[in-house]
Amino acid sequence: AKYGTGPLAESRAHGVSRILYSAAEIDQRVKDIAARISADYAGRRPVLLGVQRGFLCFMADLIRQITVPMDLDFIAISYYSGAKEPAVKITKEADLPLAGRHILLVEDIVDTGITLNYILNYLQEKQPASLSVCTLLDREARRLVNIKLDYTGFNVPDEFVVGYGLDYHEEYRNLPFIVVPQIKGPEKEKSEALNTKHETKIKE
Ligand code: 5GP
Ligand code: MG
Ligand code: MG
Repeated sequence: AKYGTGPLAESRAHGVSRILYSAAEIDQRVKDIAARISADYAGRRPVLLGVQRGFLCFMADLIRQITVPMDLDFIAISYYSGAKEPAVKITKEADLPLAGRHILLVEDIVDTGITLNYILNYLQEKQPASLSVCTLLDREARRLVNIKLDYTGFNVPDEFVVGYGLDYHEEYRNLPFIVVPQIKGPEKEKSEALNTKHETKIKE
């Protein structure tokens, strides 16, 4: 192919400036987390509940390392930055009944915590037996809402990251590692707009 093969060639093809976590590092962290989850949930049957769509690679790898019986389900959300205040909305509910269940929410990244906070409030109303959070990435420095994270993969620096399920305008999700994207040309404007949006969100 034009860029050859292998992770570095692939990252060049995608316009990546720096690899933050390699596939091997991610693999090791996923195994560690899965071992902890398997021990903590021994004798129980958790529902692993993914938040679409960034969770996909993480969840797929995680569940294959979990050794307790479990259920798998998803929810989807959307953001409205409309008229008065930005709001999160559930656009797809879980298919399984969640009352009395041990829910383990699986997220790609927790940044300000606003999204997660909304989701946790929504899930508490379902009256689960327990509710815990597993996130691949945690950008704690930007947290606005105090939330307890039960399982965390990596603490990320304050840089926008993509890959391993995480996107930038639906791009980069299929990279097998986590990177800081290099955004050039017309995309640069979009990225700056995104950063502004990011900052606006912090102040709210
Ligand atoms: P929060 O509500 O915690 O500020 O934002 C959480 C959501 O913002 C994540 O689920 C993710 O969709 C998006 N997000 C935050 N930081 C990043 C990032 O560095 N990269 C990507 N791709 N998405 C991010
Ligand atoms: Mg997410
Ligand atoms: Mg996204």
